[in-house]
Amino acid sequence: MNGAVAPDSRKWEATDKGVHLRGRRTRNTWPEIALRRAVYGLGLRFRLHPQIVPRCTPDFVLPRWRLAVFVDGCLWHGCPDHSPAEFRGPNAGRWRQKIETNQARDRRNDSLLEEAGWRVLRVWECEIKRDVQVAAERVAREARGAENFSG
Ligand SMILES: [Zn+2]
Repeated sequence: MNGAVAPDSRKWEATDKGVHLRGRRTRNTWPEIALRRAVYGLGLRFRLHPQIVPRCTPDFVLPRWRLAVFVDGCLWHGCPDHSPAEFRGPNAGRWRQKIETNQARDRRNDSLLEEAGWRVLRVWECEIKRDVQVAAERVAREARGAENFSG
């Protein structure tokens, strides 16, 4: 029985969570990779993590259609279905603020990209988890919409 760690275990849990969920955009998460594979399978070609405007790196872009794609984590980007409406615990205010900061940055990046002549598509992580094929087809539709392709 290792009782020595017990008193601080709650504190450590909170710290670990804070580190894990720092809100920094992580690269090559499985939903991102799954989406790329499915998009590739539809015959679309992309470039990974290009820096198009300063401090803004889409997860991938389809240069032919000047479409930038982001895969947004549900929690940290405020998915209407999966981001908690109300945070609990001692850091609740900070979590809420962090998400609002992320969302503000997302909107800023969207407009910077649009000013640079790109269109922006954001795909929720949960869309990919639900059905990656449907998510990839949304990317394809968005891309080819510019050329008035049907389907
Ligand atoms: Zn979601």
